[in-house]
Amino acid sequence: MKASDPVRPHAVQGRGRDIHRLMAELFPICRSITGDGFRRTLAILRRHIPVEVREVPSGTRVFDWTVPKEWNIRDAYIKGPTGETVVDFKGSNLHVVSYSVRVKATLPLAELKSHLHTLPDHPDWIPYRTSYYEEGWGFCLSHNRYLALEEGDYEVVIDSTLEDGFLTYGELFLPGATEEEILISAHACHPSLANDNLSGVGLATVLAKDLASVPHRYSYRFLFIPGTIGAITWLSLNEGRVGRIKAGLVLAGVGDKGDMAYKRSRRGSSEIDRAAAHVLRRSGCPHRLLDYRPDGYDERQYCSPGFDLPVGRLSRTPSGEYPEYHTSADDLLFVSAEALEESYGTTRAILDVLEGNRLTVNLNPKCEPQLGRRGLYAPEASDNLALLWVLSRSDGRSDLLEIADAAGLPFSAIGEAASRLVQAGLLTEKKE
Ligand code: ZN
Repeated sequence: MKASDPVRPHAVQGRGRDIHRLMAELFPICRSITGDGFRRTLAILRRHIPVEVREVPSGTRVFDWTVPKEWNIRDAYIKGPTGETVVDFKGSNLHVVSYSVRVKATLPLAELKSHLHTLPDHPDWIPYRTSYYEEGWGFCLSHNRYLALEEGDYEVVIDSTLEDGFLTYGELFLPGATEEEILISAHACHPSLANDNLSGVGLATVLAKDLASVPHRYSYRFLFIPGTIGAITWLSLNEGRVGRIKAGLVLAGVGDKGDMAYKRSRRGSSEIDRAAAHVLRRSGCPHRLLDYRPDGYDERQYCSPGFDLPVGRLSRTPSGEYPEYHTSADDLLFVSAEALEESYGTTRAILDVLEGNRLTVNLNPKCEPQLGRRGLYAPEASDNLALLWVLSRSDGRSDLLEIADAAGLPFSAIGEAASRLVQAGLLTEKKE
């Protein structure tokens, strides 16, 4: 009987470094919810996994929303009264408010200031701002740079296009032994931000690569989508097939040094919620289990009442709880290979539980079966305990995960005991 921590077996394979390396490659790209930055990101992922690129035309109605125009940017800068460059998009893609319309103008400082965004509490950081659904333009800069601006006229250039095009997203389907699916969703629409966005993209990519090389019971569907509008678009286009989703995980913010956190699905006690709680409680590491609430990432769409899918979210420090969130301080140094490794191992451990979990029926329910006669009896009483728990609770109503929790044993021990009992003809899987 294995009583080992179910997290660690997967957590020592250098996956954190693999994820960090991929994030570093993706980091410089100026992404947004549409446009060539998103396409370039998918092209890099395609070197690792055969993710399919989907394009949905601007103007497509998706539930209460409309797929927006496509935004692309080539260059942007502000030049000061003496001709010096004050802000340069080439230095950081955070400098331009995402979805800024094309601008070429000369403005006095007072007028320019209404288009500038800074963080007075963190005067060295550049904020990240967007204006997806309201046409406008703006620049983001450090508060210290802002304070140093002198009176005079400023030349402002944003060389961007906002026109009919496409919303691009990536989808990868890994068929399993059953048609039931596990959904793994990561938003991939942020520019140079590491923890928010790229950590989830990197983890999902390495996970997909690993799962593609091993047999699995469930089919897996990976989505690399723009936040909010991407999930809404996918759900709108795939409404007929969401019934196959047995469980799902939104991966976001999995690279910072904070504790692991799992946010339950709206259902609260679906199988993914129980699996995540089991893994985190047994991990031996500090962690948080959070109830569902209607803010956060794309779990908001998957868990909206018209879908109510069993999709939870795995993160570390929740967004909004760390000051680096949506600023230039969320960079490649803010995330660590160690944290990414632990997040990867936790994800694999949760999926292992789902893969192994079953409803079982005791085929010899009248009194205990004679274990010794079948070579199942161990001299140490504690070694028989998992077998006895499985036999005792296999009435077709409790799944193996519930039995593990009731027994206070790791899922791996209960799963292994169940396998031995099936082999001995004492247990069978209940088909739902
Ligand atoms: Zn974000």
